[in-house]
Amino acid sequence: MKLSKLALDIAESPTFALNEEARLLRERGEAVIHLGIGEPKNKTPMAAILSSAAKLTSGEVKYVPPDGLPSLKKAIIRYTEDNYNRLVAPENVIVTNGAKQALFNIFYSILNPQDEVIVLTPYWVSYPEIIKMCYGKPVFVTPEDGTFIPRFSDIEKAVTSYTRAIIVNSPNNPSGAVYPAELVAQIVEFCERKGIFMICDDIYHKLVFDRKEAAPAYRFTNKDVENSHVIVVNGVAKVYGMTGFRIGWVIAPRQLVRVMSNVTVQTTSGASPVSQAAAEGALNGLQSVVEALRLQIQNNRDILLQEMKTFNGARLITPDGTFYAMPDLRAFNGNSVEVSKFLLKKAMVVTVPGKEFGMEGHIRLSISGTVKDVTEGIARIKWALDPTSPNEIYIGDKKMIRDWL
Ligand code: PLP
Repeated sequence: MKLSKLALDIAESPTFALNEEARLLRERGEAVIHLGIGEPKNKTPMAAILSSAAKLTSGEVKYVPPDGLPSLKKAIIRYTEDNYNRLVAPENVIVTNGAKQALFNIFYSILNPQDEVIVLTPYWVSYPEIIKMCYGKPVFVTPEDGTFIPRFSDIEKAVTSYTRAIIVNSPNNPSGAVYPAELVAQIVEFCERKGIFMICDDIYHKLVFDRKEAAPAYRFTNKDVENSHVIVVNGVAKVYGMTGFRIGWVIAPRQLVRVMSNVTVQTTSGASPVSQAAAEGALNGLQSVVEALRLQIQNNRDILLQEMKTFNGARLITPDGTFYAMPDLRAFNGNSVEVSKFLLKKAMVVTVPGKEFGMEGHIRLSISGTVKDVTEGIARIKWALDPTSPNEIYIGDKKMIRDWL
């Protein structure tokens, strides 16, 4: 069968593949612990349920403006004012089918073939693939060994006359790193001066621990949104735990929003009004749901740190945000794909190989589940890899004995 070279070049999603494998194991009755999943376990906020239910029961579920329902845009404008101290116009806002489509639409709208986008390692798996789908070229900037924070001088060095954008994701998936405010400020100043877009993927921006803060890029530019090269991507997936509603948005200069709207008209016609109503409910509803989620994840992070103390050989940089952590397991095996496969086979724990995020030798753990998922998951990983840990463990009701170390 002859298929598109471009499409064939797109990698299979490692998380979707792992989810499928875990589902099959569960179906066989295995006691799988899923530390691979990228979503919180909370229930949809009540305000979102009520608002979308009202839309549904109105019976008026029709085509809506491609750039989003005016009432949701209004809520996004207020959110931007409250959280970013920026007043933006409705023409600066476009609603998308999740942050993922927001990113696709941005890259599709700003890239010409061969244009380059700087991607900071470790990166979210989809960035390079989406950039390639838009005929662009991802250019990776890797931090020094032992840190997840890139050096500004390395970013500067990676920029060429083809560079159109730098994508910044802080708090970061997969490392949980929150970039220092000085670094964010340097990137903003550089991008504004050079006319390069700084795309801020802020999808985890409120999930930050210990009273730290993910410094918003807008703080470091005095240009108004219309003249700034800062583009902000956000959504309800992570902060409100509303992954299935598929609502994201972009704040950008109106010329870019207009082009993105044209792209939307010819691709999806816009996001479902039922989901948009849900997002509006979440943004206008009680914000204590976000704080409850943040506290639950911070507690899981603290438990993770405690458990990792007795994991000899593993090195973990404390995650300051998101619901991910990325231990360095090179002391056991430098091949993260092998490690993840081994952990699923022996310990029934799903993890994602660091290689997928440009960080070989590490694995990504998601700590968005229960305390039991975290404690039992780490105990099983220790048992499988660390010869100094007890060599017997219960997996479900089966007593397992380690006989390979
Ligand atoms: N950006 C990052 C860094 C993510 O981790 C994810 C989801 O995993 C997304 C964007 C996609 O968000 P959405 O579900 O709104 O498309």
